[in-house]
Amino acid sequence: MIQLYIPLNFLGVIYREIKQSLTDLDKMFVLLEKDREVRDAPGARPLAGMDSTVRFEDVSFHYEAARPILKNVSFEIPAGKTVAVVGPSGSGKSTLARLLYRFYDVQQGRITIGGEDIRKVTQASVRQAIGIVPQDTVLFNDTIEFNIAYGRPGASRAEVEEAARAARIHEFIAHTPKGYDTMVGERGLKLSGGEKQRVAIARTLLKNPPIVIFDEATSALDSANERAIQSELKSAARNKTTLVIAHRLSTVVDAHEILVLESGVIVERGTHAGLLARQGKYAQMWRLQKLEAEPVL
Ligand code: ATP
Repeated sequence: MIQLYIPLNFLGVIYREIKQSLTDLDKMFVLLEKDREVRDAPGARPLAGMDSTVRFEDVSFHYEAARPILKNVSFEIPAGKTVAVVGPSGSGKSTLARLLYRFYDVQQGRITIGGEDIRKVTQASVRQAIGIVPQDTVLFNDTIEFNIAYGRPGASRAEVEEAARAARIHEFIAHTPKGYDTMVGERGLKLSGGEKQRVAIARTLLKNPPIVIFDEATSALDSANERAIQSELKSAARNKTTLVIAHRLSTVVDAHEILVLESGVIVERGTHAGLLARQGKYAQMWRLQKLEAEPVL
């Protein structure tokens, strides 16, 4: 019986994965490949989940041994607070998010949630505790409702709609030909970068996890759209333990702590005001971005 059950169950999982990923088979294989890199420890229990404080303790990490990516990175996101990471492209910002979501295990140091090493608890429970608004949201060839409910399978239409309203995508959906039953993805309605991000925010609101990761889009949105989406991001992060991978400094001003990452090393850290007063790299980045934002007369 058990022998029969396991393969059928496995096929069921594969089928669901394929159904959910027709838009992006490549991405699915990349994800499955990543999943193979981490395994639950024997007898691993789920995360207790009482405390959502996140800690990176002396974390070092490489994808390939010859090329260290993160070097002795330590920081804490107290429960309900926001830590923002800024730094040049390739400095390792998104890698921090991938490690927290446990796509990979660290080679040195440890990452804890509520004091528990994430390598010692089940991967599923870690992922259950975290919502991600990624740079590029993958949409499945399915209805808008399915795409939002993906945040919490089994959610009712009313719950999906409530999340869509909070993410300010409801009006847009209401104007599509079949509303929440409209097909999206490659073979359906195409959504803009901003609309996709709103779908990701709605998914996260519906999942309502204690920890949220925002990997801010580098180029998907124009600045008017970017400003408009900030308030929805803020409401999704309210009272959540939040890691923001920021490309625009305007996003980080209110963070509890800002980390400046360069070649995998935290070279500066502090609040926005503290870092400006320091007149270092952050202050320089801030001046540059302000100059770029000024209208050219
Ligand atoms: P950006 O601001 O451009 O998104 P980032 O600071 O988020 O950059 P990461 O995505 O963390 O940077 O990447 C850090 C480094 O790790 C980069 O040099 C990248 O090429 C490398 N890297 C990322 N993913 C992999 C991988 N799967 N295998 C090997 N190297 C990788």
